[in-house]
Amino acid sequence: MPLNENNWFTEVFEDRTAFSVKYSEKLFDQNSDYQSVQIYDTEAVGRVLILNGCFMLTEKDAFIYHEMLVHPAMQFIPNVKRVLIIGGGDGGAVTEAVKYPFVESVILCEIDPLVVQACREFLPTISAGLDDPRVKVIHGDGAAFVRDTEKRFDLVLVDSTDPVGPAKALFEVPFYQSVKRVLGGTGAAVFQTESPLFMEGVFTTSVKLLREVFGQNRAHPYFATIPCYPGGLWSFTFCSELHNPRESSTVRQAGPAEPVRYYDPGMRQAVFSAPVFVRRMLA
Ligand code: SAM
Repeated sequence: MPLNENNWFTEVFEDRTAFSVKYSEKLFDQNSDYQSVQIYDTEAVGRVLILNGCFMLTEKDAFIYHEMLVHPAMQFIPNVKRVLIIGGGDGGAVTEAVKYPFVESVILCEIDPLVVQACREFLPTISAGLDDPRVKVIHGDGAAFVRDTEKRFDLVLVDSTDPVGPAKALFEVPFYQSVKRVLGGTGAAVFQTESPLFMEGVFTTSVKLLREVFGQNRAHPYFATIPCYPGGLWSFTFCSELHNPRESSTVRQAGPAEPVRYYDPGMRQAVFSAPVFVRRMLA
């Protein structure tokens, strides 16, 4: 069935594949200094956030991404009090992080204030955590923030767009080294590391560089399916000089105060078990 232009939004990926959703209403459409920011209301997946023509989240599957970015680390490294989130202007990762009463502070460093403004207005459930009194939102380049800060963090979450434009620096060694520095040898960082299916080069290079910076056995990719992202199969990479999620004897943190819908600690060994083709890719 041909897509009728006037009520379908389509993301074309590398001019070879596309993902489309039928929308009922365009709720927001403005350009910032960094990107175009659009929010649509759709029939199949609820409201969707689009940046520069790329799906960032849909209300239907955002919980998978945000839970998988936050909970695997939050639920097994001990004493997480100070959290830094780079990117993540939709507030979804913040909303998951503040579910834990032992978290004392969350800094969100998002370069584009328009993303936060749009998501506060049109994605209130996903962005709700931004109003938590422990949260401080700053607007600036995450790479510069971690390069220059004297603060220390127990957990750093990197929830960036693809490695183009301002996000390019978030996939490079100087940024990885700065993140390692602010963790002070005891914390952990999780990076969204793209699709091993549709972005094999970015994925393998990111894991290789993270292993060079944190240590060969200190950067562990894990996986989840995010239907609105190119290729569906998505990766995150957990990095820590101290904690290894593949060891069975690691500390288990108390679960979140509020219910989750996707991840629980019983899944940890499974999510960190890479599919055979990925193991071959990273060998
Ligand atoms: N989950 C999505 C994904 O995996 O593609 C990312 C969602 S979040 C909306 C991505 C955010 O990263 C955007 O709001 C973008 O403005 C922000 N961003 C990109 N480069 C950045 C940088 N250098 N510093 C801080 N934020 C940045």
